[in-house]
Amino acid sequence: MSDYNELYQQIILEHNKKPRNFKVLESANAYSLGKNPLCGDQFALYAKLDEHDQIEDIGFQGDGCAISKASASLMTNAVKGKSRKEALEMMDEFQKLLTGQLDDSQPHHLGRLTILSGVREYPVRVKCATLAWHTLAAALKGQEEASTE
Ligand code: ZN
Repeated sequence: MSDYNELYQQIILEHNKKPRNFKVLESANAYSLGKNPLCGDQFALYAKLDEHDQIEDIGFQGDGCAISKASASLMTNAVKGKSRKEALEMMDEFQKLLTGQLDDSQPHHLGRLTILSGVREYPVRVKCATLAWHTLAAALKGQEEASTE
């Protein structure tokens, strides 16, 4: 196993076991319920935006496969403190990363999220990894439901 694959596996396992920001956010002013019917992943996403349209706090709850949960955990860490616009930009970049339209040679704002680029090798898993991002985008746009379908 290469170092990259080992790190990828480790991060997925670790975030699946101990997801970050795994909580209901009582003070949320943005919410969406995201579903990936192909795999059965389902997460509720809560975000609190401050008066400057910045994500002050974020949480998610629900259940899904290891990749969907780890990706949601990594996503919440990555967008905390970002503006609505920055978060939507990251979502776009993440989507491109997983569909092979963006690689590390191009400028992006994904930071360590690029570890999930390994999902590219498993097209059926791409929807698992992007579910949390679709759900965040829906919440930020005021849509209470999101689906990968
Ligand atoms: Zn899944």
